[in-house]
Amino acid sequence: MPSQRLYYDDSYTTRFAARIAELGRHGGRDAVELEATYFYPESGGQEADRGRIGEARVVDVQADEGGRVWHLLDPAPQDLGSEVQAEVDWTRRFDHMQQHTGQHILSAAFERELGAATLSSHLGEERSTLEVSLAGSDWRTIERLERVSNQIVWEDRPIERHWVDDEGVKRFALRKPPKFTGRIRIVEIPDWDVSACGGTHTRRTGEVGVIKIVRWERVRGNLRFEFLCGARALADYGWRTESLLEAARRRTLKDSELIAHLERAAAERDELKKRLGELTARVVAAEALERVRREAGGVAELWSTRPREEVRLFALKVLEAGAPWVVAAARGPEPVLVLGRAKTGKGDLRALLPALLERSRGKGGGGSDFVQIAAGDGAAAAAAFEWAAGAVSEAVEAAP
Ligand SMILES: [Zn+2]
Repeated sequence: MPSQRLYYDDSYTTRFAARIAELGRHGGRDAVELEATYFYPESGGQEADRGRIGEARVVDVQADEGGRVWHLLDPAPQDLGSEVQAEVDWTRRFDHMQQHTGQHILSAAFERELGAATLSSHLGEERSTLEVSLAGSDWRTIERLERVSNQIVWEDRPIERHWVDDEGVKRFALRKPPKFTGRIRIVEIPDWDVSACGGTHTRRTGEVGVIKIVRWERVRGNLRFEFLCGARALADYGWRTESLLEAARRRTLKDSELIAHLERAAAERDELKKRLGELTARVVAAEALERVRREAGGVAELWSTRPREEVRLFALKVLEAGAPWVVAAARGPEPVLVLGRAKTGKGDLRALLPALLERSRGKGGGGSDFVQIAAGDGAAAAAAFEWAAGAVSEAVEAAP
């Protein structure tokens, strides 16, 4: 027999004398069924209640296929006796009631304002979401939805329950067809929303406090909106305000100036990056030329740290300046090894690749006159460099 669920008609009672119906198991864990319960089992996108039964903590509440409600306890239930005191965690429950009732109001707003149906909803521990059949949205549309939704909250309308059978359900214009037949519960916010629903709701819309949409994203060709109600919305407003004001304070700005400041800073950074790239190219070219003038023959250089792109550029510039060959490497930040020979020279550097890849524990490749390897780590880059300096000069000079 299904368990008797008292929260259907009373979602405000949290302390009650629980009569144990059965000690059993659910999902491989020991659990207890009560003769009648105020604990809400996870269902319909709403999380399960927490609380206490006797001395044990209720860590989860789940219903089985037969409609029996199982309370999972920690520690596992022993002999609890026939009747114990139980208590539902009210802070958590009321939070769920705010999110859930808010979801009804918001879904009806999407329907009424945009003709958009709610396809699914999920009320999580932190995030509550609605998937809605909409192609796109913007902040002005969100504002409109929030205004009408919160108007319903502030009018503090009563929320009514009706138990109906298959015949009685026909009297109601439900927002969505019911998922079940037989005796069902209808939850009505007068002149706003009528839904068949088994969740927990506030008595009046005013208790939802406030409804705020915080972001949306595209999923499966629909939009998924994340929203917050009541205390969650206040907490979210708190950290957003603090973050915004703190970010502005650190730059000695007003919060209203922050976005313009970020735009300017990003443009400046892009300009500086471009300028830095140009100057680096000139410095590396001068450095390469100086080395080639100073040293007859090939050039070998190992840095403890130099960006990969600069190592590569150095090698190219050394060859441009007339060196017969070059070996350049850096241990970090990205361990790299570059080998090159003059285009007019001879010898195929790819012949050295197997030995280089093994010593550098890396990956790479290239052409007959230029090879680049991303080494496994700094030490391997250095070891491969030591070997390569000799091997390249030999390969180039010994080539027929
Ligand atoms: Zn509901």
